[in-house]
Amino acid sequence: MPATDRSAAVSASLKPYGPLSLSNRFAALGPDFYTRLAPQALPAPYLVGFSADAARLLGWSPEAARDPEFVTTFAGNTPLPGGDPLASVYSGHQFGVWAGQLGDGRALLLGESDGPGGRWEIQIKGGGLTPYSRRGDGRAVLRSSIREFLGSEAMFHLGVPTTRALCVIGSDAPVRRETIETAAVVTRLSPSFVRFGHFEHFWAGDQYGALRQLADFTIDHHYPHCRDEANPYLALLSAVCDATAELVAHWQAVGFCHGVMNTDNMSILGLTIDYGPFGFLDGFNAHHICNHSDAQGRYAYQAQPNVAYWNLFCLAQALLPLFGEGEAAIEQAQSVLPAFKTRFAEEIDLRMRAKLGLRESHADDEALINRLFKLMHEGRVDFTHLFRTLAGLELENPAADTPLRDMFIDRAGFDAWAVDYRARLRHEASTDAKRAVAMRLVNPKYILRNHLAEIAIRRAREKDFSEVDTLLKVLSHPYDEQPEFERYAELPPDWAGQLEVSCSS
Ligand code: AMP
Ligand code: MG
Repeated sequence: MPATDRSAAVSASLKPYGPLSLSNRFAALGPDFYTRLAPQALPAPYLVGFSADAARLLGWSPEAARDPEFVTTFAGNTPLPGGDPLASVYSGHQFGVWAGQLGDGRALLLGESDGPGGRWEIQIKGGGLTPYSRRGDGRAVLRSSIREFLGSEAMFHLGVPTTRALCVIGSDAPVRRETIETAAVVTRLSPSFVRFGHFEHFWAGDQYGALRQLADFTIDHHYPHCRDEANPYLALLSAVCDATAELVAHWQAVGFCHGVMNTDNMSILGLTIDYGPFGFLDGFNAHHICNHSDAQGRYAYQAQPNVAYWNLFCLAQALLPLFGEGEAAIEQAQSVLPAFKTRFAEEIDLRMRAKLGLRESHADDEALINRLFKLMHEGRVDFTHLFRTLAGLELENPAADTPLRDMFIDRAGFDAWAVDYRARLRHEASTDAKRAVAMRLVNPKYILRNHLAEIAIRRAREKDFSEVDTLLKVLSHPYDEQPEFERYAELPPDWAGQLEVSCSS
């Protein structure tokens, strides 16, 4: 069935809120992997944000959120029939250091839905204490829940692999962070919430049986082609290297900084997961640190590809017992890991050339791209604005470059670059109209800038959730011109520079 027919068929079958047929394949792994427990009730819950697009995946129509039971269910107060809520256990490396056991300290897997929109694990975040809460309170605050909700849906619409967000449910229940804030629960959807850290957990505990069980589970349900390989576990590592390379190339190409690339925040499916102090670049700074708690800049924008590679080494180490014995196992892992670099280079090259509207691949392209990034870095040129404006470049009319060159501090530098860029475009007989269309399909106009999220959060604190809705609407079409929402594409106001986003959530 063509995609459009399928989409129409799914739309026609959408239903108001109603029971889901839930299963939970993760639960079948057994008690080494999790603790079963019900969410802690959220007092007097109300709807803060709802993604009709995500609801479709569960077979629900946009009206689903109007059902009072929708709200109590995703507050964690009404159990889903057939659900088998559990908190999973994982470990991980945080900021480069082994952190030991972590786990779902405030997330609960409610179950897995298998509807017209596919199989989706449903997880609530902020659902109360679990055995893995350590010193935390099991809750999430309204601020971070809105950011995760908008962030994940925005990334999906940008075309970046990500977990999805169904809704945010708020409550006036107080939660102590640096100040007293209020509680919220965000519902996330993903084919799997398994992280690198899940594997590290069983490796660190010498639980090689459980390790194998988890690897088999992941292969059977998510990477079935690995089963046909000579060494399925090595094939799994290789597949995760590929997925992660593709993921990080996407991030770099849209100017996304994750902020906390700890191994427990790395999805085994190569999805963006655990939106905390993430941020999109405004003025381009290759060393931009979006997480105020990351003093060393371990997770700075430019560091992300190497950190991903480092994290893959951690995963490889965890999988070693499955590869074979001693030195041979290490050699096998070492033969697979460098594929990340090759794959990342291919993926980033593809995306950067597309951002510049280049159809062909030439040896000098990398230098041309790097020169542009250097100029952008020196002038702190707005990442999103620059590429969107570049789409309108007129090949034979440099005099029309003014809005572009005015973005740079080194205007002569830009002019010199533009001469070479034009020569390169002529070389592949590029035409303005076609190139502009192609470039606007890959260079978004609308991204979730920190100040936009902040405005929505401030209003939501006053019980006005309309800005959450509006932002979601705008960010659902990031590549389209939306004249009525032009102000959402504007450069950040001066006060945005003072915004600090930390791990506190
Ligand atoms: P994160 O930095 O959000 O990825 O979280 C790292 C670890 O801390 C995970 O095990 C989380 O479940 C746990 N955690 C973070 N915040 C809380 C909280 N408020 N209550 C309980 N556990 C938390
Ligand atoms: Mg996490």
